[in-house]
Amino acid sequence: MSPSPASPPPPRLDRALVWFRRDLRADDHAALYAACRAAGQVYAGFVFDTDILDPLPRADRRVEFIRDSLVDLDGQLRALGQSHGVDGVGLIVRHGRALEELPALADALGVQAVYAAHDDEPASLARDAAVRGGLAAIGCLLYTVKDHLVFERDELMTATGTPYGVFTPYRTAWLKKVDHFYLRAWGVARHAASLAPWPRAGGTPGIPTLADIGFERTDLHTLRLPTGSAGAHELLDDFLARIDDYARTRDFPAVKGPSYLGVHLRFGTVSVRRLAREAWQRTQAGSQGAEAWLGELIWRDFFHQVLHHHPRVAEHAFRPEYDTIKWEHGKHADTLFDAWCEGRTGYPLVDAAMRQLRHTGYMHNRLRMVSASFLVKDLGLDWRRGEAWFARWLNDYDLATNNGGWQWAASTGCDAQPYFRIFNPVTQSERFDPEGRFIKRYLPALAGLEAPAIHAPWKARPLELEAARLVLGRDYPEPIVDHEAARRLTLARYAATRRPR
Ligand code: FAD
Repeated sequence: MSPSPASPPPPRLDRALVWFRRDLRADDHAALYAACRAAGQVYAGFVFDTDILDPLPRADRRVEFIRDSLVDLDGQLRALGQSHGVDGVGLIVRHGRALEELPALADALGVQAVYAAHDDEPASLARDAAVRGGLAAIGCLLYTVKDHLVFERDELMTATGTPYGVFTPYRTAWLKKVDHFYLRAWGVARHAASLAPWPRAGGTPGIPTLADIGFERTDLHTLRLPTGSAGAHELLDDFLARIDDYARTRDFPAVKGPSYLGVHLRFGTVSVRRLAREAWQRTQAGSQGAEAWLGELIWRDFFHQVLHHHPRVAEHAFRPEYDTIKWEHGKHADTLFDAWCEGRTGYPLVDAAMRQLRHTGYMHNRLRMVSASFLVKDLGLDWRRGEAWFARWLNDYDLATNNGGWQWAASTGCDAQPYFRIFNPVTQSERFDPEGRFIKRYLPALAGLEAPAIHAPWKARPLELEAARLVLGRDYPEPIVDHEAARRLTLARYAATRRPR
């Protein structure tokens, strides 16, 4: 059963537990709202799930982001309790397999229901099914509610009742349906008297350190990526002051155009309804920047409904004919892949993008498109290899959007760009980083080159190279592929999937 917070609450409960997952905030929180409406005493819990954490490297910015955001969430819960005269409210944190820890915690607390937000990734659905079973064994229910999308699952379907496969009509339907009801906040503050003080069964209060859960500190704080809801609101305030310029600035990686809120949306330290509301109201007031930004939030919903309706995309091409593509493989392909990962392809914009990813965990959207296209259509490598690399490094990694982005770039996806549209990495560089400012930030070896040579150093005149103190092959690689030749190969590779067998 998956009621929305709008549906009538279940019969009044004595005790409930809110299980925080990708919704690490206490404000405008659908599950917390629903639990506080339904139960007399509400506990808040989080599990550092070893099924997710074990495969990760021991230093992972996302784990630190989550850990620090939990400290912030703990403080928010305490303050909410205090505002109703309830002292000692706090987040109960467990470390272990969620499917064991959660039922054990629910049992120890004696709750009748656990509330959580939907998470439609295939592995999360399997985990939730197991948790639901574990809870049922102790007579406890799991209620899940929509929280991290504006429209999800089958809330938006075509007139014939099928899921949308093309973005533009999806966006039209989204904009037609959206209103104050869908964007209103699930205000917890009014109902927070239900928050229960720290229970005896809760163990020691406080959030474990990274070392407690077997992780190390990263460079997260030197990157000045603010964490928690406080961090999200800091970024949001900064972005709202320039949202009107978004349509004009968003494609230029050297410019502060986008919001940088991706990681906060990923872990729910900010409510998507709050963001969509800000953008929707400004759109109605005529802001083109806000309209373009709202369009990106709609893409986010779109890719999530694609994953929900077609979970096979997590492993396969959305368009099955493209699963027959013969990608490059073997030792040479591995060498090309390593060069791409390490930013050594000899194409400056691609290399700068790949270094931004490693150095910061962020990559600008234009560069995600360019570097993904380069892997697939210049190097002829399977998009899944790039998808996995992004999943390893992106702070805002999200299965639905990463997969959607990769399948879009590889032309294998739902409403993807046609296979014969192949980004030229040099032209993209000239258009979107005209003076090479972004390139120079991540490739200091090229700092002495000016445009146009900085976009294609192998075309630079010997005098230019000398003045820039640059020796190709020593200070910066020669291109590992010829774009024109690669383009022809790619057209043939994709065309082969269309020939009758
Ligand atoms: P802004 O431009 O400020 O956009 C605001 C929010 O809108 C983003 O945070 C994101 O939630 C959403 N959004 C923006 N662009 C898109 C898009 N094209 N599709 C879906 N949602 C979008 N986004 C992720 O959140 N996680 C990923 O793992 C991810 N992988 C990607 C992989 C590829 C190959 C491509 C082409 C795109 C990917 N994106 C991903 C989409 C997009 O690049 C990022 O959301 C964006 O760059 C994040 O930066 P921002 O928050 O500053 O974006």
